[in-house]
Amino acid sequence: MIADMNPDDIERKIADHGIETVKIGTPDMDGVYRGKRVSAKQFLDGYEGEGFAQCDVLFGWDIAEEVMTGLDLAIGSADTGFADILLRPDLQTFRVVPWEPSTAAVVCDAYTEQGDLLAQSPRTVLRRVIDRGRTMGFEPAMAVELEFRIFREDQESLREKRYSDLRPLNPGYNCYSISHASIDDDVVGSLRRYMDAYGIEVEGYNREHGEGMYEMNLRYEGALEAADRGMLFKSGAKEVLAQAGAVPTFMAKYSDEMDGCSGHIHQSLWHGGSNAFWDTADEHHMSARMRAYLGGALKTMPELFALYAPNVNSYKRYVSGSWAPTTATWGIDNRTAALRVITGSAGAIRIETRVPGADVNPYLGFAACLAGGLHGIEHGLKPPAPLQSDVYSVAGLPPLPRTLEQAIDLFEHSAVAREFFGDAFVDHYVKMRRWEIEKHRRAVTAWERARYFEQV
Ligand code: ADP
Repeated sequence: MIADMNPDDIERKIADHGIETVKIGTPDMDGVYRGKRVSAKQFLDGYEGEGFAQCDVLFGWDIAEEVMTGLDLAIGSADTGFADILLRPDLQTFRVVPWEPSTAAVVCDAYTEQGDLLAQSPRTVLRRVIDRGRTMGFEPAMAVELEFRIFREDQESLREKRYSDLRPLNPGYNCYSISHASIDDDVVGSLRRYMDAYGIEVEGYNREHGEGMYEMNLRYEGALEAADRGMLFKSGAKEVLAQAGAVPTFMAKYSDEMDGCSGHIHQSLWHGGSNAFWDTADEHHMSARMRAYLGGALKTMPELFALYAPNVNSYKRYVSGSWAPTTATWGIDNRTAALRVITGSAGAIRIETRVPGADVNPYLGFAACLAGGLHGIEHGLKPPAPLQSDVYSVAGLPPLPRTLEQAIDLFEHSAVAREFFGDAFVDHYVKMRRWEIEKHRRAVTAWERARYFEQV
């Protein structure tokens, strides 16, 4: 955790590191870090003011930067003149970028021109849920574990090859191979070292299952800090790997022949300096609060699923028997269940939500985990008995949405979503995702051509 940075610390850092450029950005709906680069002078002149002006189209276009027309959006549309929002730096996130000369980065909160936190912003949504937990006496600790595939490609070659038949960083299946991770140290080890210097601790990492695939586990932190780190890690990995002639992808499922990439979320609630999930007296050391949190997380999983699986592609990862969950289930140290309870010790007891893919927007994934859990505590919900066998082989378990369309229909009508995230966010998100569904519905894919071209 970067301890309480104040304006003096910022000014000293800028001077000590000879900072000339500051990246000021905020997560968009997809969790992409977007904003501008300003000179150090411009930053120093404005960082304590009302915020840096930024066109609100950040919230009005899709991931391919096509402006979403005809949706009657409350922000980011021609109807409201693509007005400005204000990016106000969160000083606690200020950090020197170790792989770029004389450059620093900061994460901002988005505000309206009237000076209110922008209700549609994912960082605002996570703040709302954290505040709600605080009123109940809890401070959440969270972490995201990211899997990603690395290719020896660049921006041009990806396009020339139409994102197919790419050259992986390493061929073959060498999961957990120590020697193969060492062979890749110049690329992947250097990413870890840069992240460490950037203030993003990677607790550990390993070669994952399939060509070019790695997993990095980020250390748990307070929920907002952990979400910032998740976003900054993904953004930074793209920058660092480009310097090594490589590109990562955090797509949930890059190829139908290979495993998907997960973005598991670890979480615990803290109360008065101790982990509120722990109870020495319980047979599994699980407190009543932890059980209620689990009950809420399970009950709300289908209706909040659209935040865990935000893209059409996310749903390709959920294949029975694939380690990616297809039912709302839990178990103690059971990696076939959606929620894996890890009872380790009084400090480490936690829940791992195994639903999200690496394409998750960390702010929204965290918000969904916490909202479900806090809802469970507020209503004293009880989870069913844990499942300790292969859940894929058990019939009759509560299913999870199979498509973005199903997930977004549930999300739109979720009272929990509206209560915890607010109508302005829910309505905006629903419209954006329906736009995405429609884009996909019209796309004719390579699979369709190969399958039907000659036969029908
Ligand atoms: P894996 O799922 O890869 O086996 P582990 O079960 O070892 O991973 O979990 C490691 C993750 O759990 C790390 O991201 C770590 O920071 C996080 N973690 C450890 N303790 C806590 C806690 N009390 N609350 C939230 N996350 C935690």
